Amino acid sequence: MSIVKLSHGSGGLGSNKLINEVILKYLGNEFLNELRDAAKLDVSGKLAFTTDSFVVSPEFFPGGDIGKLSVFGTCNDLAVSGAVPAYLSLSFIISEGYKIIDLEKILQSVSDSAKIADVLVVCGDTKVVERTGEPFIYLNTAGVGKLVKDLNDYPSIAEGDRVILSSDIGRHGMAVMAVRGEFPIETSIKSDCCNLYDIFKNLGYEGIRFARDATRGGVAAVLNEISDKSGLGFELYESAIPVAEDVKNFCEFFGFDPLVVANEGVAVLICDKNFSDKILKSMTGLDICRNAAEVGIVKNGGVVLKNSFGGIRNVEIPSGELLPRIC
Ligand code: MG
Repeated sequence: MSIVKLSHGSGGLGSNKLINEVILKYLGNEFLNELRDAAKLDVSGKLAFTTDSFVVSPEFFPGGDIGKLSVFGTCNDLAVSGAVPAYLSLSFIISEGYKIIDLEKILQSVSDSAKIADVLVVCGDTKVVERTGEPFIYLNTAGVGKLVKDLNDYPSIAEGDRVILSSDIGRHGMAVMAVRGEFPIETSIKSDCCNLYDIFKNLGYEGIRFARDATRGGVAAVLNEISDKSGLGFELYESAIPVAEDVKNFCEFFGFDPLVVANEGVAVLICDKNFSDKILKSMTGLDICRNAAEVGIVKNGGVVLKNSFGGIRNVEIPSGELLPRIC
């Protein structure tokens, strides 16, 4: 078996072979091994439930791949909702001709990432479709976790609250664009794809009113959405926004605003002002939050950015598709 064939999605012998010899080799666990029609899970209390699809192109990029992205992306949506990620579903849509060796690399990455995130893949599906061009692979996930604190409660946000970014911004978008060869110069920018639940596991929830991960559309999209729903605005301080030097250079050169570039490892936290210093201090002790920073304050009005000369501009919600197939 060196490439995926249409028969691998037939539901018959070919499918069995792919599931038993390839997929279970990496993802097998007490739930998945049973190959039931539906996983039997023991859950109680309030649950958070999310789903996502992953079509990133190319599927391997500096700092990650579609497997790592799908596990952390799904777990991050649970984590920033205030849940402890527990179970995932994982489905593949693969074109015929896709190399088994690449599928195995992705499965290994899913397995490694699931271990880091402490979640189990408990059900899944594989479909094989005809190819028209280059072979491709898409992943679809769902995730459930036990809800500990509702971190998506808009009315809990108050004027004077502080905005913290858990890391420097723009790395995922720039890394994927660079590997596609969209820049005429070399770069070593890596995706920031990581497990954001680490933040809540280590810090707890005290003083954190609201959280969201700044994926497609970046920090600008997240803050505009929160502003829309909460009726409050944000004043951001340009000089406080953490952007790595190489990302900053690329953004300047190619005319991107780092605030709209996608991240896969940045949480936007809205914190009670009496706790923000303590939260930031604890966060910067975590590996994934070394560059965390307090970047603004909740105020009435829209989302604005203040530069070091006191000039103010509106931060618009990005329109159109800036960076297609980034996640
Ligand atoms: Mg999200």
